[in-house]
Amino acid sequence: MKAAKFKYIRPSSLDEAINLLSDFGEEARILAGGQSLLPTLNMRLSQPKVLIDINRLDELQGISHEGKHIRIGALTRHVDIAESDLITENIPLISEAIEYVAHVAVRNRGTFGGSVALADPAAEMPACTLALQGTLVVEGPNGRRQIRADDFFHDLYETARAPEEILVEVQLPIRRSGESFAFMELSRRKGDYAMAGLACKATFQDNRFLSVRLVYFGTELKPTLGENVMSQLEGREWSETLAEKVIASLEDDLDPVDNLQGSAAMKLHLQKVLTKRTLAEVVQRLGNV
Ligand SMILES: Cc1cc2nc3c(=O)[nH]c(=O)nc-3n(C[C@H](O)[C@H](O)[C@H](O)COP(=O)(O)OP(=O)(O)OC[C@H]3O[C@@H](n4cnc5c(N)ncnc54)[C@H](O)[C@@H]3O)c2cc1C
Repeated sequence: MKAAKFKYIRPSSLDEAINLLSDFGEEARILAGGQSLLPTLNMRLSQPKVLIDINRLDELQGISHEGKHIRIGALTRHVDIAESDLITENIPLISEAIEYVAHVAVRNRGTFGGSVALADPAAEMPACTLALQGTLVVEGPNGRRQIRADDFFHDLYETARAPEEILVEVQLPIRRSGESFAFMELSRRKGDYAMAGLACKATFQDNRFLSVRLVYFGTELKPTLGENVMSQLEGREWSETLAEKVIASLEDDLDPVDNLQGSAAMKLHLQKVLTKRTLAEVVQRLGNV
């Protein structure tokens, strides 16, 4: 199939893009890498009247070190994240997870901002952004505002971004000593969206978990914090007994959806397996950081 007719506009400044979004409202869509949007247009799952191509907006580009965080411009391509030394050295969770995002051809065009703004529940970058307690910067007709990742992901493809706002950049805190990270996912084939996945950031003191962020994706309607599991780990040393206890309590955190990827029961089982493996991995890696 081919996309329904639409008007194509390529603004040359962020202000112009925001004005266009305000003028056209729900009839417009932002076009970034097009890797998710264009297939939905071609299948006519979405028929916007106007596409606003933001690819010429230089202010949305680039990765930079700014104080205690790394700034990732919304238009930064997945491939540039994968090749960035700044990301490898400072945000190891992202450099580990980016390899799981689709295939090379998609990573060459797809953008970090597009992935986070879309908030696909099986996508890797939204889960990592939440695990890292990132900050999302959006700009609209009323100016710029910052949204904590904890407040950003509302429901299936629903976020705190208003329709007339553009995601400008994501700020991710630089790793600190005592922190350890691990990322795992299970998919049918390498590069497919996850059937079940887990992004973890853990802070240790004297070999005990000081705090843990566990974000489950692929099984819920949005990236989801495992709050019961997280609270049970705090202050404890890792052991087989603790592993069994926290895995049982995952049932209170997750409510997996049945879909073509598998049943809810199977997905819960997969997340339990990933929880045990991921926590063992962050503990083991602590010795290597
Ligand atoms: C075959 C295939 C496999 C894939 N597998 C995976 C996978 O395993 N994991 C994964 O995470 N992704 C996967 N993707 C999606 C890919 O990662 C996309 O790059 C990503 O989802 C969207 O980025 P984009 O730049 O292409 O956004 P687009 O497709 O251009 O836009 C996506 C949506 O976000 C909105 N948007 C884009 N940028 C902004 C912005 N700055 N501010 C506000 N709204 C914005 C658009 O309006 C649109 O609604 C796959 C895609 C394909 C085609």
